[in-house]
Amino acid sequence: MPAPRSIIGLERQEVEDALAELGERPYRTGQLLKWVYEKRAAGFDEMSDLPADLRERLAGRFAVSPLQPVRDSRSGDTTRKYLYRLHDGRYIETVLIPASPSLYGDRSDRHTACVSSQVGCAYGCKFCASGLDGFARNLDAGEIAAQVLAVEAESGKKVNNIVFMGMGEPLANFDNLMKAIRIINADWGIGIGARHMTVSTSGLAPQIRKFADQPLQIRLAISLHGASDEVRETIMPVNKKYPIDSLFDALRYFNSRKKQRITFEYILIEGVNDSPDQARLLARRAESLNAKVNLIPYNTVEGLPWRRPSERAQDDFHQTLMSHGVLTTLRREKGHDIEAACGQLRLRKEKEEAR
Ligand code: SAH
Ligand code: SF4
Repeated sequence: MPAPRSIIGLERQEVEDALAELGERPYRTGQLLKWVYEKRAAGFDEMSDLPADLRERLAGRFAVSPLQPVRDSRSGDTTRKYLYRLHDGRYIETVLIPASPSLYGDRSDRHTACVSSQVGCAYGCKFCASGLDGFARNLDAGEIAAQVLAVEAESGKKVNNIVFMGMGEPLANFDNLMKAIRIINADWGIGIGARHMTVSTSGLAPQIRKFADQPLQIRLAISLHGASDEVRETIMPVNKKYPIDSLFDALRYFNSRKKQRITFEYILIEGVNDSPDQARLLARRAESLNAKVNLIPYNTVEGLPWRRPSERAQDDFHQTLMSHGVLTTLRREKGHDIEAACGQLRLRKEKEEAR
């Protein structure tokens, strides 16, 4: 089934072109975009200053959003995890994190959306729910950008910070990701500044260089999770393709092009990557790039054997980094547990449907 086109996901010029195909003048573009991004119309029938026949013709060819909210028992609870159905019956999830993850800024009015970029993930990290069932497909730009509007509509909150840390590997879907970012960033679109967006990657070195060459000042986070190749490759197969040295070459290139400090995400998994040696090596590596470190106690995933270390062991690891002068946070708050558990809600839904 071909994807029906949605307005969200088109750049301004594409909207103008689509309207021209319908025989409409360019000034309609501004009107239509205002309805979608400012007034947040859910359907064309609400767009009262467009002629009725145009609204009908638009409705015959387009949807406003490509996402259908799934209201099941889990969408009403306090976790603020939202599930969306796509046109082909697949599911993605978006998480809204009300508190501020301190590494991405410290404002208490911060509402962070954790956005998915793919259905499933091909990279198969051993600790992650998103890759458990493999890769299904890339999201298009509309499916990525519309998540921000959809969580705002469902929660009534204004999102002002975005992390591409949901399901999928954003840099493996580079063109759609960048198009979505332009739409999220645009004045005529959602209007969120590039500095309030963070792209997280498992470490695709060539794409990191490409990302460094694009013009926007978007932040970069690296899922490191192991400070030596030996440890990292046991949990992240991608490390075989891009070992730490080649990853760090790309990160040095990023640093030469961008002012934003890199963040290392480091999940603490008991007995796997939480030794004092790994802490010291991680500190040296972070120092060499002037990077920040974000420690995340592992979140249990159904069907996976890993556990988080004791709080004492987490604190020791944290202390070692701090004593080397590395800017480090240890995230223990509930909201972040939800963020890191991206991928789990969708897996459950797909399993339910398969029964
Ligand atoms: N593919 C990208 C972005 C999505 S993963 C990447 O790997 O960076 C977003 C973050 O959640 C990553 O740092 C990932 O390692 C982390 N994560 C995945 N599963 C987790 C779990 N069970 N507990 C804690 N963090 C997890
Ligand atoms: Fe994919 Fe990121 Fe999960 Fe690895 S951590 S499987 S790259 S989503």
